Amino acid sequence: MRIDLLTLFPELFASPFAASILGKAQEKRLLTVVAHNLRDWAQGKHKVTDDTPYGGGDGMVLKPEPIARALRALRAQTPTSRVLLMTPQGGTFSQHDAERLSREPGLIILCGRYEGVDERIRPLVDEELSIGDFVLTGGEPAAMVVVDAVARLLPGVLGSSGSAASDSFSDGLLEYPQYTRPADFEGELVPEVLLSGHHAAIDVWRRHEQLRRTFERRPDLLDSATLSDDDHDFVARLINGDEEHGK
Ligand code: SAH
Repeated sequence: MRIDLLTLFPELFASPFAASILGKAQEKRLLTVVAHNLRDWAQGKHKVTDDTPYGGGDGMVLKPEPIARALRALRAQTPTSRVLLMTPQGGTFSQHDAERLSREPGLIILCGRYEGVDERIRPLVDEELSIGDFVLTGGEPAAMVVVDAVARLLPGVLGSSGSAASDSFSDGLLEYPQYTRPADFEGELVPEVLLSGHHAAIDVWRRHEQLRRTFERRPDLLDSATLSDDDHDFVARLINGDEEHGK
């Protein structure tokens, strides 16, 4: 997948994408991330990219012409890429969006700054995305969140360092609790079933703990998750208080 980022601060992206799993993904050519400076498409001696808002008020607004020129140039290079605008006014980004976007051939992600972008560039954008109900100083951290969540779903990216299949949200539930060595940490023991080597019993335990955790922390997710008859029985026992916590 190719991801083009359009930003006033391309240097912000250097280290987050160079380290760990995303760095390796780029070495393996599974992913190409290029951060472009919006200023390169600004004209005139001063290469101005922002201006004061019509109607008055605080702050600066990103001018439409450099963005339009940049998006058209990037679109000409990668015509199949989907153009995203990061904005607190967009739909809230979810794991479902990450899965959908990971199937795109490429993404072009526009990061706003200051008061945001001139309204008239919206028609040049395919989709507006927010990472939550709060306001950042710029779209760059939001774009990093989207790129990270999408990239780890690309085939080969996680490799042996993790599996996306059992992650929280991937099947509509939170993930079960995880443990690693030592078996005894300050007197807290790893659940015995995980040491048993009995894979069928481990699968049942994990499914139950997934349901328990989701029931305790995010009961709203249970309404839309796909549950088996056994799952429903277990949830009914949780609701009745028949399932003791911990173990
Ligand atoms: N005045 C705007 C906010 C501008 S914040 C408003 O009230 O809607 C500056 C930039 O940060 C935005 O253009 C956007 O690109 C980015 N940004 C801020 N919060 C964000 C969020 N929750 N999700 C995605 N992008 C965000």
